[in-house]
Amino acid sequence: MISWAEADKLARVHAQGSAVLSLYLSVPLDPAELRGLPARAGELMAAASGPAGEDCGRLRDEDRSAVRAKVAAHGRDWLGGSVAIFACADLGLLEVVPLRCEVPERAVLAARPHIRPLLAALQRCPAYRVAVVDRRHAWVFSITGDEIETVTTPAAAGVPSPGFGGWYGLDTYRVQQRIIQLSRHHYRDTAALLEQVMRHGEPEPLVIGGHEDGIREFLASLPPAVRQAFAGSFTADPHTLTPARVRELAAPVIARWADQGAWRVAAGILQTPPGGPAAIGLPACLAAVNGRAVEQLVVPDDGLVPGYVCGRCGLLGVAADSCPDWETAAQPVPDLIDEMVHRTRQDGGQFSAIRGAPFRIAARLRFPVTGQ
Ligand SMILES: [Zn+2]
Repeated sequence: MISWAEADKLARVHAQGSAVLSLYLSVPLDPAELRGLPARAGELMAAASGPAGEDCGRLRDEDRSAVRAKVAAHGRDWLGGSVAIFACADLGLLEVVPLRCEVPERAVLAARPHIRPLLAALQRCPAYRVAVVDRRHAWVFSITGDEIETVTTPAAAGVPSPGFGGWYGLDTYRVQQRIIQLSRHHYRDTAALLEQVMRHGEPEPLVIGGHEDGIREFLASLPPAVRQAFAGSFTADPHTLTPARVRELAAPVIARWADQGAWRVAAGILQTPPGGPAAIGLPACLAAVNGRAVEQLVVPDDGLVPGYVCGRCGLLGVAADSCPDWETAAQPVPDLIDEMVHRTRQDGGQFSAIRGAPFRIAARLRFPVTGQ
């Protein structure tokens, strides 16, 4: 899996006069079914959406065979997951991104990589931390997809914390190094450890597991910066837990947290009074993206919306007549929504995907856009 920054970097790839193929593929869990995977990739590529009749809408044979070869060679590494493959021989691009989340299968041909499903997977299955606590012990895990690392307390030099041997570190999980012995100030110490980890690492959501009263006490001892990252909790007897079980219990908590976050943004947009900093529907959102006003764009998982981008001024539109340059510079794109997502990210805005949205597309704006 890649980071948001790497996804944004990938989205900046731009082919001139040829197409970038973006393939999103679900991989069966059963290795016996892998034999059919290259054919499935072939079917999706044959049905790829691209701007009709354009050079940039044609799949090159070398891209098709490179992707099939990748799928045949590496399918075993992605069992039971999804994978995104981006290919454009002209650019020397052949990038494979295993995804932590299931995404809809699709193939798209465009001047740029199609990134909506990739960003949706990043949003729904972020890297996160789990603190499992009881009265005497704490286990802190860093979870990224299937990878689980324990956050331990090696006795290296660094910022000391009372009751805590010394600096913290991230260790790859090898054996069940589960126990961090702590003093009676244990919840506070664990909270301090988390604060240190979070200050130095990526901002990641936090799940807390343990007995109900332990979770409550621990939550109460969290400093504001850590509490802000709190995504939810699960109850379990810490001494019966394995790291794999921790991940099993925490994953749905994180999925719910991610979905609720996106829905909260959507609800805020729907509650914005008319004339306020919000846009609902395609025309209003296009005006907002073209006006570089979008703070957060909320898009559905499904549905590609063909449209045009002006090759001269970059204006996005459904039809080929909304900009003075159109006649000479209009370039068809297979999915306006993906272009809007890309533009929003480039302008420093955020992205959310939601399933079953009560609108086609919506945006929270930095400032109201007139003339919608
Ligand atoms: Zn223009």
